[in-house]
Amino acid sequence: MSRFWSPLVKDLAPYVPGEQPKMANLVKLNTNENPYGPSPKVIEAIRAEAGDNLRLYPDPESERLRQAIADYYNVTQAQVFVGNGSDEVLAHIFQALLSHGEPVLFPDITYSFYPVYCGLYGVEGKPVPLNGRFEIEPSDYRQPNGGVIFPNPNAPTGCALSLESVETIVRANPDSVVVVDEAYVDFGADTAIRLVDQYPNLLVSQTVSKARSLAGLRVGFAVGHVDLIEALERVKNSFNSYPLDKLAQAGATAAFEDVEWFERTRQGVISERERLTKGLLDLQFEVLPSAANFVFTRHPSHSGEALAQALRARGIIVRHFNKPRISEFLRITIGTREQNDALLNALPGIL
Ligand SMILES: *Cc1c(COP(=O)(O)O)cnc(C)c1O
Repeated sequence: MSRFWSPLVKDLAPYVPGEQPKMANLVKLNTNENPYGPSPKVIEAIRAEAGDNLRLYPDPESERLRQAIADYYNVTQAQVFVGNGSDEVLAHIFQALLSHGEPVLFPDITYSFYPVYCGLYGVEGKPVPLNGRFEIEPSDYRQPNGGVIFPNPNAPTGCALSLESVETIVRANPDSVVVVDEAYVDFGADTAIRLVDQYPNLLVSQTVSKARSLAGLRVGFAVGHVDLIEALERVKNSFNSYPLDKLAQAGATAAFEDVEWFERTRQGVISERERLTKGLLDLQFEVLPSAANFVFTRHPSHSGEALAQALRARGIIVRHFNKPRISEFLRITIGTREQNDALLNALPGIL
């Protein structure tokens, strides 16, 4: 704390990202990174871009990338907004579309960046409890609000909503923007992008960090009605006209073009998730049904904290949240077959 800090900064409660330990040889299952590398075509595209042209500013509109995303999802380029990771896109969404003097609704157990953005932009957040099965109840989102945001699948539970349930929430809130954060959608949920032409209040955000294995590149995007996209453009161009550098634009464009690599690695994560889930169930863990690249799990006779510590002592890092309702759970990212085996082989000795 310093007397030079603004009143806003004094009161901020920033997001705490999962640890990026510097130790080698760790089995790192704590930040939902993809265990398979990005497409070789992505690396090639970035290499090709890494030349003398870097003295020039990048395309401020990221047109090639936006067109690649538009082609992939069969929408127009004007319906696509891109940013420096979906975290940045979400920040612009809070400022541009969710600040209306009424509380923004989001699940009580969800991505913990949402309350952080509320603090940054002076928006009141209203947590809506998940039901007893840790699922979002669409009927709970029928109440006055200045906006709605939830991930689908939700994090850190991994539970997905059907497209019908998402549509129910969108239809119940014609006067607010409903944001569906689809960071994990490719691992087992249906995208709401196919509804954006029907609902001018629906905005879908996605990222290349998870299913396209490019967390290090920092590219996220949103798809919705052109009026929503224009609001985001206005905020972006009042903040940083060049949020995506040339390497990021080239790499992310190639990622959308290499559908085959995407499909193969995505299926690899999904089948490992099913195998890891079965292994955990065999060890008496309860595992919430996951449509993501992680599982949320608890053991009836061992605390989440003790399990996380014991795994850590064996070089395996998982995520534990010391928060109400979920402090007994571990969030375990799906790793490679070898990493998942390391976890499953370590657990009997701990239990
Ligand atoms: C990982 C994640 C993000 C952020 O993704 P980036 O594009 O890497 O910033 C957004 N929302 C949820 C729910 C996530 O888990």
